[in-house]
Amino acid sequence: MIIAPIAVVFGLVMGSFYNVLIYRLPRKISIINPKWSFCPVCNHTLTWKDNVPILSYVLLKGKCRYCGAHISLRYPIVEALTASLFFVSVYLTNNVVNLMALWMLFSAGLVAGAIDFEYMLIPDSMVIVTAIGGGLWSWNHGHLFLSLITAAFAFGAFLLIYLISKNGMGFGDVEYFGALALFLTPFSAVIAVLLASISALVFVIPMLFNHTANRKTRVPFGPFLAIGTSISIFLNFHI
Ligand SMILES: [Zn+2]
Repeated sequence: MIIAPIAVVFGLVMGSFYNVLIYRLPRKISIINPKWSFCPVCNHTLTWKDNVPILSYVLLKGKCRYCGAHISLRYPIVEALTASLFFVSVYLTNNVVNLMALWMLFSAGLVAGAIDFEYMLIPDSMVIVTAIGGGLWSWNHGHLFLSLITAAFAFGAFLLIYLISKNGMGFGDVEYFGALALFLTPFSAVIAVLLASISALVFVIPMLFNHTANRKTRVPFGPFLAIGTSISIFLNFHI
């Protein structure tokens, strides 16, 4: 399929942009800052040579060209993940509206997930992108009305947990799952929450065993909600 290599290149470019978002959104730095790209340590403006997705990281051996500061492995990982998810999406659907919706789901999931892991917060902009993607997806699948009801129930259920658990769940998770549920139907939403909980446990249990976490460690739920929803969509329970 001719579109697959294009999806990979587009994914690498977008992944590079998502790294800018992951750095700037939680720090409230403008995205359209004239200084498009700079080293967070020495502030040196980066050129295109320093910004080629994945390749620059490998050639510079993970260090800033100007000050030698260590560059987070998150940069090439986000680029590689975006390219992989864009690539896989092409094989999951052959409809352009569905493809856009999936790319929005995965893109917002990556950006929100990375920020949630570091700051325990989910930016509103990523909730909005997810909601638009979900609306497009369910409209194109002919179940927009059912998904709107699902989203309302999902939001309500998570809001209840949020209010009862007191700090057990962030309000960002409530909003985010409300948006994710726009991709879903009632049954697939339940499956999504189950899968999210299982994947969060799979992540946490090894940490408890090697003592890198304890009962009080807070684990972001956003990334797991995104994973659970993505899998649930493709299990295709359209009930
Ligand atoms: Zn530097």
